[in-house]
Amino acid sequence: MAYITGLRRDRSEWTPKFVKSIDSEKCIGCGRCMKICAHGVLAPKEVDEEDSAKMFASVSNAENCIGCEACGRTCKKKAFAFEPLMA
Ligand code: SF4
Ligand code: SF4
Repeated sequence: MAYITGLRRDRSEWTPKFVKSIDSEKCIGCGRCMKICAHGVLAPKEVDEEDSAKMFASVSNAENCIGCEACGRTCKKKAFAFEPLMA
């Protein structure tokens, strides 16, 4: 199975893992992932619950993701799932 790969500066290959989903059960809406993503992929989303509204992160521009996984590394709740893409 061949996946899309990128090149490092020394021209060696690496395999990007693109953001697949964010688990809204785990997300606490801290916003760390949205601040760290330099590609505008993530956005806050508000969901109305019975007595209050909850804010959490959502994938709003998946097509802009470069697969760096920085968002997942900054998430203390381990709410992210990633996947490589087939070439
Ligand atoms: S860093 Fe994790 S917990 Fe914080 S908003 Fe992003 S997904 Fe939610
Ligand atoms: S993997 Fe990188 S580019 Fe993609 S959403 Fe996370 S921080 Fe942004």
